[in-house]
Amino acid sequence: MKSLYGLLGEKLSHSFSPQIHSFIFDETKIDGSYHLFEVSGNELKEAIKGLKVLGIKGVNVTIPHKIDAMKYLDIISDEAKKIKAINTICFKGNKTIGYNTDYYGFGMMLYKYNIDVKNKRIVILGTGGASRAVVQYLLDKGSKEIIFITRNLKKAQKKLSGYKILTYNDLEHLKEKDILINCTPCGMYPNVEDCPVDKQVVSKFKVAIDLIYNPEKTLLLKYSKELNLKSINGLYMLVAQAIKSEELWNNIDIESDVVNEIYDRVYSLLYGGKSI
Ligand code: NAP
Repeated sequence: MKSLYGLLGEKLSHSFSPQIHSFIFDETKIDGSYHLFEVSGNELKEAIKGLKVLGIKGVNVTIPHKIDAMKYLDIISDEAKKIKAINTICFKGNKTIGYNTDYYGFGMMLYKYNIDVKNKRIVILGTGGASRAVVQYLLDKGSKEIIFITRNLKKAQKKLSGYKILTYNDLEHLKEKDILINCTPCGMYPNVEDCPVDKQVVSKFKVAIDLIYNPEKTLLLKYSKELNLKSINGLYMLVAQAIKSEELWNNIDIESDVVNEIYDRVYSLLYGGKSI
């Protein structure tokens, strides 16, 4: 019988996850099927119990349940504890275990594109959920300086105590840094003419990473390409976090050439043509 997996969230009709997981099943020969489970906040506890009883092997968790779901799990992994959010649940024996595979997906993307963050000076745009997984990875890998950029300093200081936080106005006077990471939805389809910063700000960096994957090249990445920066979008991270979930659910390691094969298939489905 097929093993069952899925995505737990509130509004899922536009999710790309079933397609990504079907490519993973195909390339790894995991005999699985991946389903969408739409539940509201007040159904979450019962939904997790129900999935466990039904013998589901694992689920991904998305908006708005990434924080609340933690309350209903038996074990939280180290990275998820630090990030204070999960996006993956494993049902193992009688236990429910929460992980944050965005953390691993971000790391796999850096590895794929040969970006070393150790001792680097990094600027993160946005202070939401994705930025928390990113900053934890950077801290764990020894980045030298991390600066968050926010639209609302007071709110961000409350959320992120202990971090250096500046506003977009401060960017004008910022000295040269190494890596710029966009963790905002600014520039995402359909608002493809938007960019969180102007080109002069982008020119202060050597590498630009945009977690957005739709469109393929956000305006931010168009600027960074024109400036000859190393420029990376969020698709590899998206695919890699899904692969990490499958590794956790199935206790396996998926070889990097298989990961790249899956990425290529997702790439051509989404953008057409071959990845470079
Ligand atoms: P989120 O929790 O909604 O947070 C985004 C943050 O961006 C907000 O906290 C806000 O920070 C800032 N922001 C929101 N709207 C903005 C706007 N119009 N202009 C400038 N800043 C804005 O979202 P998230 O879950 O962190 O995701 C952020 C982006 O990353 C999304 O585009 C998402 O699709 C992408 N993502 C990609 C992957 C991947 O695998 N590639 C994984 C996770 C997320 P301030 O209020 O402090 O300014």
